[in-house]
Amino acid sequence: MQLDDIRRKIEEVVKRFLEESKKVHSLEELSKLRNSSIRSLKAFLAEIPKLAPEDRALLGKIVNNAILQVQEEAEKVSSWLQEKVFDIKDKELELDITTPWFKGGLESYSLPLEQGALHPITREIERMIEIFTQMGFDVYLGKELDIDKYVFDYLNIPPDHPAREAWDTFYTEEGYIPTTHTSNMQIRVIRDQMKKHNEVYAIVVGKTFRNEELDARHSHTFYQMEGVVVTEDASLGQLLYTLKTFLSYYFRKELRYKVLPAHFPFVEPGLEFAVECVFCEHESTCSVCGGKKWLEIVGAGMIHPQVLKNAGVDPKKYKGFAWGFGIDRLVMSKHKIDDIRDLYQNNINMLTPAR
Ligand SMILES: [Zn+2]
Repeated sequence: MQLDDIRRKIEEVVKRFLEESKKVHSLEELSKLRNSSIRSLKAFLAEIPKLAPEDRALLGKIVNNAILQVQEEAEKVSSWLQEKVFDIKDKELELDITTPWFKGGLESYSLPLEQGALHPITREIERMIEIFTQMGFDVYLGKELDIDKYVFDYLNIPPDHPAREAWDTFYTEEGYIPTTHTSNMQIRVIRDQMKKHNEVYAIVVGKTFRNEELDARHSHTFYQMEGVVVTEDASLGQLLYTLKTFLSYYFRKELRYKVLPAHFPFVEPGLEFAVECVFCEHESTCSVCGGKKWLEIVGAGMIHPQVLKNAGVDPKKYKGFAWGFGIDRLVMSKHKIDDIRDLYQNNINMLTPAR
């Protein structure tokens, strides 16, 4: 290539840079354009050895001048871009913090009017606690991390018991258990209440954790509520009455119930408490109970004598009953939420006021 050809090509590169640099929108774009142009210009230096000796120094000069021209123009565009950015920022910040918030009268008031609400879980836990405290129960908060002894051993679930598997328990590396059920509080609550009142009327509210795959009905984290009563004459009849009363208040409807036999290691006898579905009435096919007409929502029973003994209570003198239910399930039934994930995965609809 002759020097004149190279010069023409160099001028083209510079010209292209001058044009393109007018169109960039950011410093980043500008710096990319600048660097690629300078790279193209420097590449012409490779032609030097191929030129006649008298042209060699001249080409070096031409390339250097071209690079200088690009750099200078880049500087100009850069300061112009920065000014523009500040200009936009200033415009965005044109706030008059002294403006009354319905300047010009209520008609011109244009802020969005959105009403928030407590999350259904929070709201319903408060409602449940309110009902039980009115019935004379004390309230305890569950532990989120516990040891084998309270989660299993004291509740008649020895290390080889299949229930430990069935619950898909999590363990921490240190061997602690993110609690699988709120029953881990039973022993503690009985001890505490017996010491204070010589009888037990208590509920426990807590978060529980199981190694479950997340789907519409299952979550690895959920809430439970546990009830414990220990008195000299606690009976199955009192248990059923307590549950029926609570659920009738909770669903704001007089409910029929039925009892099914069930097995839990820490109660004897154990039962499942089902109430009639409160949603079937106006619907032929009910999505809440799946057409069964019953909601089996509470596991319960008379506290096993061994569990009472483990809590330091004489089972010959005292009797007890206990129950547990998933708070989420109850909330889902009450509000016809059919996917448990809606409760835990930032669904904004959960934070609008209940109608
Ligand atoms: Zn139903």
